[in-house]
Amino acid sequence: MSAPSLLLGACTALPTSPPSTFVAAPACATASARISFDFESASQSRCVIEGERDFTILVSPEHAPPINPSPWYAFRYSIEPGGDVAIGLEYLEGRHRYVPKREAAGASDPLTVTQSDVGNRATFSLAPGTGRISAQEIFDSARYDRTISKLQRLPFFQLVELGHSLEGRPIEGLRMGRKDAPNLIVLLGRAHPPEVSGAVAMEAFMNELAAIYEEGGLDPHILQVLAVPQLNPDGVARGNWRANLGGVDLNRDWGVFSQPETSSVAKWLNELEPTISPMAMIDFHSTRKNLFYVQGADETDLNQERFLQQWLGSQLNRVEGYPFTIERRNANPGSGTAKNWFYAQYGIPSYTYEVADETDREAVSSAARILARGLPAAIRGSLLSAGRGK
Ligand SMILES: [Zn+2]
Repeated sequence: MSAPSLLLGACTALPTSPPSTFVAAPACATASARISFDFESASQSRCVIEGERDFTILVSPEHAPPINPSPWYAFRYSIEPGGDVAIGLEYLEGRHRYVPKREAAGASDPLTVTQSDVGNRATFSLAPGTGRISAQEIFDSARYDRTISKLQRLPFFQLVELGHSLEGRPIEGLRMGRKDAPNLIVLLGRAHPPEVSGAVAMEAFMNELAAIYEEGGLDPHILQVLAVPQLNPDGVARGNWRANLGGVDLNRDWGVFSQPETSSVAKWLNELEPTISPMAMIDFHSTRKNLFYVQGADETDLNQERFLQQWLGSQLNRVEGYPFTIERRNANPGSGTAKNWFYAQYGIPSYTYEVADETDREAVSSAARILARGLPAAIRGSLLSAGRGK
């Protein structure tokens, strides 16, 4: 599929409705229970009726072979009175990873599962009633829109349409600070749709940066932030494990730019006035533990080290309820991650902000707020040493 909308380039516009080419996976139902997949972020799963109150959900990746076992599932249920319903999650390429969350009446609760020895099947039961089950809490475009409407209060906020996804959804850039501010920090999120804990961190991080701007702790004339919180909106809407609609892992496409999602960000960067310099990039993801991937020991220099120590080093073991590690990892040039590309392109601190899948969300948010609070000092240190501060 081509992406002619890319030719339109960056412009400012309100989000447009995506085309409704999306087709939900078929529901399955007995007289006493119904399982359906008819909402944004529902998975493309097959549902098998094993008995009147017994269902199997076949959880499979959007393309083969799967790059990473991050099996996403999300469905709605409606169960008549008369006893619990047994649900089996059967993983066709991968193993059970995410604790199922049950969302009902506005609350989200984790469910207890029994796993098979090899981890390719997890079972749990549901009581009568209605609700939604998902691998992580649903974090969809409506929630991103709420963040945007909150940030609109900032005097220099701008919603930038960087381009469009393969399915025509806008790739939105949220800019804080003046568009001619000479220093730029880039924040990226949701290349990988199931990585919701990283999205929770990014949301809190963006909101806190906005508050810091409002309080005068960041000068909009000196620093601008471009946040792209939803790099893979098609993958999020379709409940993908990892890829965009083109079947490509977007965090292997930097420098390659075969996909409109990544190339729209690169195009925006390429068109920046020469007076504007990127000074850091942070890419939000999820994995099994809280950590930051930073530049390898052979890639760092005095400025990089200063930024690292001032921002993250000073917070190590000090963020309550959120232990994390700093992992120095060589750029592995050509691997196509955002971290590698931003480092190779600009020589700036380029970090992957990894949040553990099941870290308590309050802890994720409060850690992100603390880390955002630590950013201005690290920025000032960098600018002073580069002779760009005041
Ligand atoms: Zn990821």
